[in-house]
Amino acid sequence: IRTIGILGGGQLGRMLSAAASRLGIRCHIYEPGAAPAGDVAWQVTTAPYEDEAALRAFAQSVDVITYEFENVPTSALDLLETIRPIHPNRRALAVSQDRLSEKTFLNEIGLKTAPFANVEAQGDLPAAIAAVGTPAILKTRRMGYDGKGQLRISDPAQAGWTGAPSVLEGFVDFSDEISVIIARAADGQVAAFDPGLNVHRDGILHRTTVPCGLPAALTTDAILMAAKIVNALDYVGVMGVELFVTPSGLIVNEVAPRVHNSGHWTQAGCVVDQFEQHIRAVAGLPLGDGKRHADVVMENLIGDDIDRVPQLLSESGCQLHLYGKGDAKPGRKMGHVNRITGQTRSVT
Ligand code: ATP
Ligand code: MG
Ligand code: MG
Repeated sequence: IRTIGILGGGQLGRMLSAAASRLGIRCHIYEPGAAPAGDVAWQVTTAPYEDEAALRAFAQSVDVITYEFENVPTSALDLLETIRPIHPNRRALAVSQDRLSEKTFLNEIGLKTAPFANVEAQGDLPAAIAAVGTPAILKTRRMGYDGKGQLRISDPAQAGWTGAPSVLEGFVDFSDEISVIIARAADGQVAAFDPGLNVHRDGILHRTTVPCGLPAALTTDAILMAAKIVNALDYVGVMGVELFVTPSGLIVNEVAPRVHNSGHWTQAGCVVDQFEQHIRAVAGLPLGDGKRHADVVMENLIGDDIDRVPQLLSESGCQLHLYGKGDAKPGRKMGHVNRITGQTRSVT
């Protein structure tokens, strides 16, 4: 494999391109909007997902196609797939694009999720509330990220509406949120990074800490659950699995069929990080050494946080990543920092 096509030109595509270039692999980015990845990738196509000629030319210029964004329209994927293989596969995409199919799939393979009910239209909401109870969270089935498209429902009489087909999820009273970043190669080899402890602010990931400080039996269970998911999907690539820790065990919140923000710590904590692991898997190479060699705290730089860059540049033990985005709008991910906080190693 000499060339990989990446659907999506945001910071994840940018960091994938950088990892690929270290392995002598060139990336061609396809992005309908502005592409921060453009300064690192070999080639960039800026065209809508409806532009068949552009999609065709993109696919023909690469050996294999992957994505950093899971909401690529089905029609575009149908066309691309006739020209080059897409990894992770279409089933993984279909399952994770829709919260209803995602939760149904997870339950089918024996993993616990929050209790949920389909809310196809607003008229289905009362029955869903009766089934799931309150407090609950109403989430659009598709396209939501960073907590967008979600409404908390405490009082059934005051329930709002998201405006699109949704799922109603029972509110999970979790003690902690963790995630497993797991890679699976084409030959079925699986490697997981140490689970990270995640803290969100305003629905957006704020900080990931490794080691996560939870008992080894629990982190091992989390890894086994993630492995079950990637095996069931015959998955090739890196996946992020978000879990809630509750007194009655681990509950899967959602999965992302791509490299994940909560895996950015691997850039400073592992010899082979999540981006290289994904490139290796997609390119048909063996997975690398993802053992953790340091304790790391990853913090996102969101909106105005970018003003702290001068200070961060002079901080020791601090690895700074900036995405090259111009406009620091509130809630926009502008970069992240990985701080080395100690020297213990992986236990899993
Ligand atoms: P992402 O950017 O991670 O894709 P998202 O928009 O898909 O975010 P979720 O991960 O579903 O959103 O939810 C965002 C956060 O809201 C979770 O990390 C968790 O803190 C909280 N949350 C979501 N669902 C529940 C739930 N059922 N019970 C309690 N808290 C929840
Ligand atoms: Mg999500
Ligand atoms: Mg999430």
